Amino acid sequence: MDGDHPPASGPLLDRFSRVADDLRVSVTDRCNFRCTYCMPPEGLDWLPRSEILSFEETARLAALLVRLGVSSVKLTGGEPTVRKDLPELVAMLREAHPGLELSMTTNGYLLDRLAAPLAEAGLDRVTVSCDSLQRHRFAEMTRRDAFDRVLAGMRAAHEAGLSPIKVNVVVIGGVNDDEVEAFAAWARETGHLVRFIEYMPLDAEQAWERAKVVPSAGILERIARLHPLVPDGNGTEPATSFRFADGAQGGVGVISSVTEPFCEACNRLRLTAEGALRTCLFAMGETDLRGPLRSGATDEELEGMVRSAVWGKWAGHRINHPDFVRPARSMSMIGG
Ligand code: SAM
Ligand code: SF4
Repeated sequence: MDGDHPPASGPLLDRFSRVADDLRVSVTDRCNFRCTYCMPPEGLDWLPRSEILSFEETARLAALLVRLGVSSVKLTGGEPTVRKDLPELVAMLREAHPGLELSMTTNGYLLDRLAAPLAEAGLDRVTVSCDSLQRHRFAEMTRRDAFDRVLAGMRAAHEAGLSPIKVNVVVIGGVNDDEVEAFAAWARETGHLVRFIEYMPLDAEQAWERAKVVPSAGILERIARLHPLVPDGNGTEPATSFRFADGAQGGVGVISSVTEPFCEACNRLRLTAEGALRTCLFAMGETDLRGPLRSGATDEELEGMVRSAVWGKWAGHRINHPDFVRPARSMSMIGG
């Protein structure tokens, strides 16, 4: 292997010796929420249906990537549950890959009816986004009065066996950062794993400001003062996870993408709803796989494109550099 080419076989390696084995698959760019930190109130220009990968196309690319070493797939969006017949895709992936770790990130709104069919189709777990435990604030942040329904969705997910449930909380200074302790108490009550995510410059309205980022270190200090914490991570996850030292159920975690980027350990790949491979949330470029797929590319040809894309992954995002440039796509268009 010479230094400028990816290896022709073996795991999906990049120039910095990272191995990509975790894939996020966006199944739609549409969403039934309008979270302030993600989408504008009027929504975005949705992709025409013909531009979105069919389940068969998604399954073919997933199979290729699993063959190249991907061991965990997370379905996301947009809002994955608004994609018609989603359990069919889960069943296809599960049938082809019995040992695959298969999960989904969702806003939870449709989980009350979908949790059971998704679990039956072979989904392992869900992560549900929930930014406030106060109904009014939840409605302000998501622009939907859906708090009760999302809680019902989490209960349905638990009953269907999609647990432990992870809960994503995007923490925004002056908006919901006063709820850290309440979320920790709720994690202990429910057994959920609550992950506090630093606000990233990926909102469609470009309202992100550094001053609104609440550093994870302070969040953990605040929780540990009330409930001492014990690390519970495996080092490769971007979320640094903790259990409660007193043995209570549940746990907390932080995703410190802004203040302590985890780029050097990043093992992620993303496939957008229209079939582009992205090696970083913040990448300025991406590799179109749908075009070649639809014009008859062989698996070997697609493998070459995937290997080159991964090889070209950059060392890390540059949010903290003066030359930082936001990517053209916002979170829901990439597949967070
Ligand atoms: N619609 C699903 C949901 O909300 O869970 C899945 C897609 S959403 C884009 C994936 C995750 O990205 C969610 O947990 C959401 O809170 C998070 N997210 C969206 N915009 C963000 C931003 N600007 N900064 C940090 N996290 C963000
Ligand atoms: Fe929709 Fe998820 Fe974005 Fe909220 S964060 S607008 S639920 S895609």
